[in-house]
Amino acid sequence: MPMNPYKLTAHELVELIKKGGLKPTEAVSSVFKRIAEMDPKIKAYITLCEDSAMSAAKKLEEKIARKEHLGALAGVPFAVKDNICTSGIKTTCASRILENYVPPYDAAMVEKILAEDAIIVGKTNMDEFAMGSSCENSAFFPTRNPLDLERIPGGSSGGSAAAIAADCAVLSVGSDTGGSIRQPAALCGVVGMKPTYGLVSRYGLVAFASSLDQIGPITKDVTDTALLLKAIAGHDKRDSTSVPVTIPDYPSNLKKDIKGLRIGLPKEYFEKGVDKEISESVMKAVKALSGLGAELIDVTLPHTEYGIPAYYILAPAEASSNLARYDGVRYGYRNKEAEGLGEMYSQTRSEGFGKEVKRRIILGTFVLSSGYYDAYYLKALKVRRLIKQDFDNAFTKVDLIASPTSPIPAFKLGERTEDPLSMYMSDALTVCCNLAGLPGISIPCGFTKSKLPIGLQFIGRPFEEEKILQAAYAYEQTMAR
Ligand code: GLN
Repeated sequence: MPMNPYKLTAHELVELIKKGGLKPTEAVSSVFKRIAEMDPKIKAYITLCEDSAMSAAKKLEEKIARKEHLGALAGVPFAVKDNICTSGIKTTCASRILENYVPPYDAAMVEKILAEDAIIVGKTNMDEFAMGSSCENSAFFPTRNPLDLERIPGGSSGGSAAAIAADCAVLSVGSDTGGSIRQPAALCGVVGMKPTYGLVSRYGLVAFASSLDQIGPITKDVTDTALLLKAIAGHDKRDSTSVPVTIPDYPSNLKKDIKGLRIGLPKEYFEKGVDKEISESVMKAVKALSGLGAELIDVTLPHTEYGIPAYYILAPAEASSNLARYDGVRYGYRNKEAEGLGEMYSQTRSEGFGKEVKRRIILGTFVLSSGYYDAYYLKALKVRRLIKQDFDNAFTKVDLIASPTSPIPAFKLGERTEDPLSMYMSDALTVCCNLAGLPGISIPCGFTKSKLPIGLQFIGRPFEEEKILQAAYAYEQTMAR
């Protein structure tokens, strides 16, 4: 057994387990030891499932003893964001309203990783209902950035990114509606990928903004992202927006030469609001790619500045409708003192939802209300179309777009909580990718002078995850040298 299995990447760990060099119980107990040591400081997890993880590991050992076929994620200690349903394990969305909710079924993505013999170690903290960029909107507690405990890990999938950065899980997933996988990955110095809308089933993902939400990997390296994406991608009849496409063998195709790959640099993503240290570090990274034979081409995405306003109309509009189901009647929290149905609804919802969730419900209800629908909601939909067209135009000239992931590095806890607009600006470079339904990745590309991680983002054409992964892998190799 290697000294500290929790340090391994998933591909290393699976290989060892398959060769008999490591037992699943050893892998799981090593990760729980690490969690016991680190998580009291970081607080990446809302729920830990040590007992069920150990018994799953033992079952896997019996399977190994019977010489049965092992899955692609055999024995990998896995962290699931707490807005993804896990049968028999609490799924709270970091909200009081779902504090004690135990789903009776697994999300499609969870079924898939379990079928590949992964082992769930716990459910990770997040901004309530995935609304936020810092993990401070969790109803329970904030998560801290493992690289600097004074700072936020990003959000909303901050718990998953922090767990991976601190080696408190070997693989994890988040959900990304406007940047919630890529931004925390960037701020914690790990890899995070939002797949094309429709590639990964949303069945069992608690809905925030259904036309934007996607589940995707948060991992220690690009190879692990490829491995996990292959496991969770694929058509699912239970999600009507899931697309029937053939899933490439991402891990086997990673090492393809990137010579001749055309990488677009959109000037709007390097302009105002982006820290100089960040844009410089991203430029250095793309120069390294050009050294490997990629061609750098200037492109323009002229509607970028309307991304945030359009997103903050459309996402709350969809959220206000999706969150109508939390009424205290069917499941979740209910105020028991209220007299009459109307009072029960309003007491339940005012006590069950946090401040940011209420702000989004009110915003969403407003932009959908008669008289304002055309002026806001419909207008935002038109802007969404223009943003998509910007990308379509750019992709006639280039294969990929490169940019910073987050305009700023991890900030201190409390620094932006009083100013929602400055918090919303954290997503300035990630939301357009969601509005256009495109795949995007964030990979580490160095550190600021104060030693905070910087993320490099690649955005690709629909269902061209393979190309993104190849460029990301090629760049990662230059970093390893
Ligand atoms: N930070 C963005 C928001 O608050 C994006 C969240 C997400 O992608 N889930 O809506």
